[in-house]
Amino acid sequence: MRRGEKSGLFVGAFLQVPRGVRRNGPLSAVALPDPDAAQRSLHSPKRTIETDVCVVGGGVVGVAHALAARRRGLGVVLLEQEARAHGASVRHSGHLFFTALAGAGTDAGPLAARELWLELARRAGTPAGTDGTIILAHSREELEVMQAVAGEHPGRARMLTRREATTLLPAAGERITGALFGLMDLLVDPRTITAALTRLLAKDAQARVEFRAHVHALGGGVVEAGPLSVRAGNVIVCPGAYDHGLLAALPAGEELVSETVQMLRLAGLRRLGPAITTGIALLEHPVFANAPGAEALRARLELEHPAAVEHGVAPLLAPLAGGGLIVSQARSGGRGRAPFRAERLDALLLEATRALLGCDLEVRERWTLRVLRDPADSGAEQDFHIRAPESGVRVVRALSQRALALCHWQAEKTLGELLDAPAPARPPVPPVLTVTDLRAHADAFRSRPGRSV
Ligand SMILES: Cc1cc2nc3c(=O)[nH]c(=O)nc-3n(C[C@H](O)[C@H](O)[C@H](O)COP(=O)(O)OP(=O)(O)OC[C@H]3O[C@@H](n4cnc5c(N)ncnc54)[C@H](O)[C@@H]3O)c2cc1C
Repeated sequence: MRRGEKSGLFVGAFLQVPRGVRRNGPLSAVALPDPDAAQRSLHSPKRTIETDVCVVGGGVVGVAHALAARRRGLGVVLLEQEARAHGASVRHSGHLFFTALAGAGTDAGPLAARELWLELARRAGTPAGTDGTIILAHSREELEVMQAVAGEHPGRARMLTRREATTLLPAAGERITGALFGLMDLLVDPRTITAALTRLLAKDAQARVEFRAHVHALGGGVVEAGPLSVRAGNVIVCPGAYDHGLLAALPAGEELVSETVQMLRLAGLRRLGPAITTGIALLEHPVFANAPGAEALRARLELEHPAAVEHGVAPLLAPLAGGGLIVSQARSGGRGRAPFRAERLDALLLEATRALLGCDLEVRERWTLRVLRDPADSGAEQDFHIRAPESGVRVVRALSQRALALCHWQAEKTLGELLDAPAPARPPVPPVLTVTDLRAHADAFRSRPGRSV
């Protein structure tokens, strides 16, 4: 039981917390994993919390929305089904690729997104790396695409000569024709950043984080997670690609398809510094893929590296603060959850990485990641898929490899849209019950017409 909760009052009781939630104990919801909690929750008394905003999903997108709600002074309850974030939010490369967002729509979004990240990472005690990205060009076609993007946003990215590029990365060698230096790009630690932001949230007296709270139903402003009910003015569902059934039950429907992506972590090599990638990775991002010269670049890459283009083997090397490199990514192919990793794709990824670093590589970890794709978005232009299954509810799912960079900005937008919309009607507040679950159950039977117990 949490500090501050009284068992008598809490059995079947309605805990009303006007304008924000009461916090019951310091950092209570980010306690270390408790293996017996799921079993205990089966027998836990029912409890209800009222708040302004309920966020379902404790990945980085959910946490970003909860933090955005707090910036607006709203009380927030965050529900995560696992003991900690475990999905894409701990498996990405931590690379905030603002250069790839340079041309997307208005300029305000990427810049504001970057400012929010700098501020939040600092407050969370894990400052973002600011060394940018070096995108190496191996051909005239790659250079042309990079020059087109750099020319549009001179303050944010600049071209490096061949000499400058090889000075920064000597091993990249002879074949380099130049590079694009993304000055605005940031790096966060993929393994710790979501937990750090969650701790920041949980420290806030007007926020409450509940782990091991699997949401199985929501509607009419009530979110059900086992014995816990949350009544909220607005509900934001951020289940990533790992939702088990909740979305299928919502009118928003399940319109996305998923793919599996392979990633690696390499030992040692170097500490921090800029992220490194090459022209082939550019094709993954519309700002480059739609730039002048991109068609010619694609044609050349398809000719020279057919397997890499077919499987989306686009090496991005993101250094970790503690040493080592995250190497993303190769698509396992086909739709859905691939049950097995393809060694051939890891081999292609390692070969491409070796060509960049020019040294032997030691793989420390290999993992997969499920990613969502909207079949209607053939150019992969969308960063998020947003649905409004009912008034006051938004389902927000990340689609792109830029979604991490944009998550705080998207959260601002989601909150703005929700709060500007007319407020949904709140369900009536049930009376405070002080009876046990068993008696309440019997009372319910008695109240049914035509039945006796
Ligand atoms: C290969 C690859 C690399 C990437 N690298 C980058 C990068 O470097 N930079 C970048 O900007 N973006 C990157 N991304 C994108 C980014 O990592 C993801 O978009 C982001 O992490 C998604 O976070 P999320 O919170 O939506 O999902 P998740 O992290 O999957 O979180 C969803 C959470 O919801 C919980 N949940 C689901 N259903 C329920 C339920 N019913 N009840 C309670 N909880 C529930 C899950 O347990 C899970 O913890 C990358 C993506 C890929 C594919």
